[in-house]
Amino acid sequence: MRDLAEGVARFQREVFPVKADLFAHLADHHTPHTLFISCSDARVVPELITGCEPGELFVIRTAGNLVPCYSPGADGVAASIEYAVAVLGVADIVVCGHSACGAMTALAQEHDLSAAPAVADWLRHADASVARAATSEVDALVRQNVLAQLTNLATHPSVARALARQRVSLHGWVFDIATGRVDDLNATVATAALTA
Ligand SMILES: [Zn+2]
Repeated sequence: MRDLAEGVARFQREVFPVKADLFAHLADHHTPHTLFISCSDARVVPELITGCEPGELFVIRTAGNLVPCYSPGADGVAASIEYAVAVLGVADIVVCGHSACGAMTALAQEHDLSAAPAVADWLRHADASVARAATSEVDALVRQNVLAQLTNLATHPSVARALARQRVSLHGWVFDIATGRVDDLNATVATAALTA
């Protein structure tokens, strides 16, 4: 915790003053242009890899960047998606997978998850990803998982409505930790075909 406290002190001393005007504006404006859905993995930092400032990205992070299909009932991921799309009106949604993803590695290599039952249950939302990849290669599963989660995303009514009115575009990315490369899976095309 000491490191975090020192980080906060450094932020207040060195970072905040430089961006004081931005934060003054953000104090009563929340108009992010993009919903960014990434893995919870500590090595993936959305604002850093996209060069975005505070206020630009509405971020949802889940283990494996999984987006459960829409179903009625309370669901934190669904509520955040709906808020970003229907209330804030984001123009773009990015689902960003990454290399060496622990969740995708566990699935691709069929790790024993009996000691982590909640993780095992959650990863069932990647069943279609595993089916699509049909290989034990982690990189292939990471990519197929991004595409499968874009399909799940489109089942949410707020997203379906925005897609039908061409108010939102969906994008699939994969971030490579070792090189910093970001691959665009060109999922916009796939999604257009999906919703046609
Ligand atoms: Zn991950």
